[in-house]
Amino acid sequence: MSITLDLSRATASAPRPPVNLSGLTREGLRQALIDADICPPDKARMRASQVWGWIHHFGVTDFAAMSNVAKDTQAKLAAAFTLARPEIVERQVSKDGTRKWLIRTAPGIEVEAVYIPDVGRAGALCVSSQVGCTLNCTFCHTGTQALVRNLTAAEIVAQVQVARDDLEEWPSPKEDRRLSNIVFMGMGEPLYNLDHVSDAIDIISDNEGIALSRRRITVSTSGVVPMLEPLGTRTQAMLAISLHATNDALRDVLVPLNKKYDLAQLMDGIRAYPGISNARRVTFEYVMLKGINDSPDEARALVKLIEGIPAKVNLIPFNPWPGTDYECSDWKTIERFAAILNKAGYASPIRTPRGRDILAACGQLKSESEKIRASVRRAEKAAA
Ligand code: SF4
Repeated sequence: MSITLDLSRATASAPRPPVNLSGLTREGLRQALIDADICPPDKARMRASQVWGWIHHFGVTDFAAMSNVAKDTQAKLAAAFTLARPEIVERQVSKDGTRKWLIRTAPGIEVEAVYIPDVGRAGALCVSSQVGCTLNCTFCHTGTQALVRNLTAAEIVAQVQVARDDLEEWPSPKEDRRLSNIVFMGMGEPLYNLDHVSDAIDIISDNEGIALSRRRITVSTSGVVPMLEPLGTRTQAMLAISLHATNDALRDVLVPLNKKYDLAQLMDGIRAYPGISNARRVTFEYVMLKGINDSPDEARALVKLIEGIPAKVNLIPFNPWPGTDYECSDWKTIERFAAILNKAGYASPIRTPRGRDILAACGQLKSESEKIRASVRRAEKAAA
C-alpha cells in the first residue's frame, strides 16, 4: 500500500477542525452528543443509535438528510460536528476493475486504499493502518518509508467509506455486496496500532451500520507475537501471517522482526490464536522469490512448519521494484511449490497480480506514486 506525505502545509497554529462523527465508536458518539449538549445523558444512547444508523447504514454526509431528526437538532449537530469525507486526491480504475484512491485524511497525511473485485466473496478492500512502517521487510518497497504515525480509527474507517461511496453501496445491502471483505494488508503493521484497528473493526462490523461480518475482516501481521492473543480477543478478526520463509536464518533477512519473535514463538502464538478452527483458518502469505524461498525443499519445510494449524497459503508472485535485487520465481516453480502444498492438504492459491496498470499491485505502490509526485513537484517548481 502506498502512502505519500507532504508535511509542508501542516501548521501548529491551525484551528482544530470540528469532530467528525463518522469515525467515532458507538460509545464515542454517545459521549460526543452529551458533551455538545445535543441531548441529556439519559437520552444519549437512543439518539446515538439514530445518528449511527444514518451515518453507517445510510452513509449520509449531511445532517439535513437525517429525516427523523428534528430540524433544530440537525442544526445543533451541524454546528458542532462534521460528517465530511476526506478529500480524494486521485482515483484510478484498472482494466481488471481494481480501483485505487489516494485519500488525504489530514493535512499532509495521504493514504492509498485499493479495491480488488472478485476476491473474497465478491470484492476486497485493502486498507492501511499506519503512515509509514518501522519493520523494513526487505522484499517490501512500500515499507521503506519511515513511520510517521498511526492512523486513527476514523482514518481507517474513512478508507471504507470512500470505497463504498465509489461503489455506490449505501445503504448497507443485506446480500450481493460488491465490497464483501476487508483486509488490513496495506501500509503498516496493524498490531502496532491495535487500539485504533480494534475500534475501526468495531465500527465496520456493527450490525446497524456497515455490518461486515468479523469473519470477512482479515488482519495481516508480520508476527508481533505478544499482540496475537489481544487481536483475537478484541476483534475476532481472521488472522493472516506475513511468513515468506520457513527457517529463522532466511526470515531474519526477509522479515527482520523475526529476530525479535522467531518462528518457534510465532508458531506457538498462532496455535493459541483465539477461535482458530477449520472454519476460521489462518492465512499464510508467502511471496515467491526466485532462488530464495521457492524450492521444493522449502515447500516441504513449509508443510512441516504449519502442520496441525488449520491454514491456507497465499502464494504471491513478487512484483519487482526499482533497486530491488529480488526477482519473481518462474511460473512453473510457483506451480510446483503450490502442488506440494496442495498434496499435503493445504489450499494454496497463487494470487494473480491485480491493478498493475494503475500501480496498485503489491509492492508497486509507494515507489511509483512517490516518483509521480516527485515529478509533479519538479514540474511545479519549474513552472514557478
Ligand atoms: S510487509 Fe508490511 S510490515 Fe513489512 S515493511 Fe511492508 S508494510 Fe511494513
